[in-house]
Amino acid sequence: MEKTEWVHCPVCGNKTRLQMREDTELKNFPLYCPKCKQESLIEAKDL
Ligand SMILES: [Zn+2]
Repeated sequence: MEKTEWVHCPVCGNKTRLQMREDTELKNFPLYCPKCKQESLIEAKDL
């Protein structure tokens, strides 16, 4: 079974609707936070 984790907003720490697998790779992904109402660029290694 693959391990998945919810991605948290780097600004406020709110849980977003984006799920990430253990082997997911992201670079400069515009993560939208419903709490901040804005997008933050994230990288998978930051999580
Ligand atoms: Zn946020």
